[in-house]
Amino acid sequence: MKEVMELIERTSKVVVMGHVMPDGDCVSSVLSLAVGLERLGKIVEAVIDSKIPYVFEKMPFVQKISSEMKISPELLIVVDSSSPDRLGRYATLPESVPTIVIDHHSTNSCFGWKNWIDSSFAATAQMVFRLNKLLGVPYDPDLATVNYLGIATDTGFFRHSNTDTRVFEDVYELSKLGANAHFVAKELLENKRFEQYKLFAEVLSRLQTVLDGKIAYSFIDYETYERYGCTDEDSSGFVGELRALRGVEVAVLFMEYPKGKVHVSLRSKDWFDVSKVALHFGGGGHPRAAGVTLEGVKLLEFMEKMLEYLKEVFTLEAKVAHEGQEALERDVLGG
Ligand code: 5GP
Ligand code: MN
Repeated sequence: MKEVMELIERTSKVVVMGHVMPDGDCVSSVLSLAVGLERLGKIVEAVIDSKIPYVFEKMPFVQKISSEMKISPELLIVVDSSSPDRLGRYATLPESVPTIVIDHHSTNSCFGWKNWIDSSFAATAQMVFRLNKLLGVPYDPDLATVNYLGIATDTGFFRHSNTDTRVFEDVYELSKLGANAHFVAKELLENKRFEQYKLFAEVLSRLQTVLDGKIAYSFIDYETYERYGCTDEDSSGFVGELRALRGVEVAVLFMEYPKGKVHVSLRSKDWFDVSKVALHFGGGGHPRAAGVTLEGVKLLEFMEKMLEYLKEVFTLEAKVAHEGQEALERDVLGG
């Protein structure tokens, strides 16, 4: 963090970049750092090569994000992105521009000149908060709210296993700085479209479970998105609902949007590492939340292939975990 800070202090023209299909942590980290550096007198551009989902439309400063890189920066800071292919059309990084990567994904490929990667943080927004404080960025309620956004969303509003004491310490501090938790919850959670509920009903009607109800999955093909007047923005929270099923350890949602492009969202509840499965197919993520994006594959064919692999790995790891537990109990009980 110190080295990152020193590099930032020496430059005045900076691009802060996030990943395609941005989530709350991505939008939050990009905006908190971009606004923070602006408040220190730097020329800053916030860049994400994607449309920003409508749930973020009322977030402070969100209009600062552009999909276009207009300045030629002295420094590029990439946040919350585990590999360059997550940057859309900016995937080929300029060789001559020093690049810093700040991220909390353990699957990060360390593609920057300097990489500050720490998977012990629940959200990249926490890392940005620390950096901003160290740099002396002044906070007001708007900046506090936008910085809070990423911590709230990446912890599933303080429900996921990454919700630790440091998360509460950070949101306590941000709350004292004026972060509006109710506003963020309302915009993100109670802002659903009618069509979205119809689409979710379709997902539920296609829901299947395998391996004794331990794995749940469903799919949305492009034609179904079209039929309900929906886009991939509408389905971003669905996989979490599938995981909420009693007895489910892994939930998978296969989505085709736009036509010909397949995105898979994986979630687990207690112990199974879904990031390994995502990595196997060229994606990445966290142990409890991971994803893969592929082009030129058929949705149902790929679904079959991935489920086959998932079932195999799951059965194997469940067995290892079970045997480990038995051995442990034997050792303890048998002295
Ligand atoms: P989601 O299922 O919400 O799209 O993504 C869950 C997590 O998986 C994200 O926070 C991100 O870390 C990771 N992820 C999602 N899609 C991709 C992808 O296409 N490539 C990589 N490397 N990671 C992804
Ligand atoms: Mn994140």
